[in-house]
Amino acid sequence: MTSSHVLIAGAGPVGLVSALTLATAGIPVTVFERNTSSPEDLRASTFHPPTLDKLARFGLTEELVSQGLVARYTQQRDRKEGLIAEFDMALLEGETQHPFRLQCEQWKLNTLLLDRLAKFPHAKVMLGAELLSVKQDAESVQVEVRIDDQVQTLSGDYLIGADGAWSTVRQSLGIEFEGFTYPERFLVVSTAFEFADHFPKLSYVNYVSDPDEWCVLLRVPTLWRVLFPTRPEESDEEVLTDESIQARLQNLLPKETPYPTVHRTLYKVHQRVAKEFRRGRVILAGDAAHINNPLGGMGMNGGVHDAFNLSEKLVEILVSGASPDLLDRYERQRRSIAIEYINANTARNKKTIEERDPEKRRKTQDELRAIAANPVASKDYLRKTSMIDALERAESIA
Ligand SMILES: Cc1cc2nc3c(=O)[nH]c(=O)nc-3n(C[C@H](O)[C@H](O)[C@H](O)COP(=O)(O)OP(=O)(O)OC[C@H]3O[C@@H](n4cnc5c(N)ncnc54)[C@H](O)[C@@H]3O)c2cc1C
Repeated sequence: MTSSHVLIAGAGPVGLVSALTLATAGIPVTVFERNTSSPEDLRASTFHPPTLDKLARFGLTEELVSQGLVARYTQQRDRKEGLIAEFDMALLEGETQHPFRLQCEQWKLNTLLLDRLAKFPHAKVMLGAELLSVKQDAESVQVEVRIDDQVQTLSGDYLIGADGAWSTVRQSLGIEFEGFTYPERFLVVSTAFEFADHFPKLSYVNYVSDPDEWCVLLRVPTLWRVLFPTRPEESDEEVLTDESIQARLQNLLPKETPYPTVHRTLYKVHQRVAKEFRRGRVILAGDAAHINNPLGGMGMNGGVHDAFNLSEKLVEILVSGASPDLLDRYERQRRSIAIEYINANTARNKKTIEERDPEKRRKTQDELRAIAANPVASKDYLRKTSMIDALERAESIA
């Protein structure tokens, strides 16, 4: 056990994976989480193969698989033409121990991580604890945290800012969040209605392009989640009315009775990357460092990859005595991946799914059909879409 101490802001998947990696190596950690409980929110539902490979070291993958759905196939569809191309993730056998996508809600990972952390006496998770500000000097980092209306000051050797898109840590350091926000918001509706009985050969992961209203149909164990874009001129209230939700679902698949709905959530969508991922003893990871649109399921996965990369480096520094300069390599690796890979691919996915020009749509769809028909091209495509390429690229950055 080392006497060094790592503070972590945020008990999302990124903060908790970092905490578990550090605690497992004997490093004392304290996680501050503003919420008083871990929310069962409707965000990520796709785990990519390399993320499952990495989580397997904690025995978490088996448990997640038992709580999720194994998606062997992913599909590109068109609202009018139906299935365009289907990709078989089994082609990734030999590249990963988990040649499939796992469809499982992200809060289930958080719950498992919290259970695992509770077994380490040197890992503390403080719920209802809001980080307010950050200061640092050559020896340590100090944070102010509000707990039960009392403000406490705590200090540690390093601070990981895993406090999400509106990161107080990032703002406290005045680090710019470069990029843009899309004018439209994304609506996610979940329903127990069985779409697979109506769309022939539907897989668990379906990107459905359309020039007027594209959508993504994602299966999780008990529900279908449908993601729609909204029009910039619609107000939040308008989008979330029963009439508007039913109209969108009926437009996708008309039926005589209204759709039963379980959740409805509206999200702002951004493509942004922090100008710096590290300043001294403070390091950003996950949504605090980069955010992107959810087409391709790369936000949480990329954030979990940040968490492993960063916490393994902190273990080398704090346990094996490596130079703190190693953290600059974290920034070089993960910032490059956020810009060149995660943001570039998710932005491209959005352009493809919403393309209005009929010629360009036909060309892209022909390309997708050709890739799906060729196992070598399909494998390359799947290596890219499942983030295997991104991790290999990160490893190649000195
Ligand atoms: C509709 C939608 C679908 C998505 N689907 C996918 C998908 O399929 N696959 C995928 O990979 N990604 C997906 N994402 C993205 C994914 O949800 C995020 O990238 C992921 O949650 C980031 O994890 P994080 O731990 O960095 O941040 P968060 O999950 O946001 O966690 C940050 C935590 O910090 C806490 N916090 C914030 N401020 C403070 C403070 N000052 N003090 C203490 N605590 C604080 C918050 O309460 C929160 O618990 C999706 C996102 C959306 C919106």
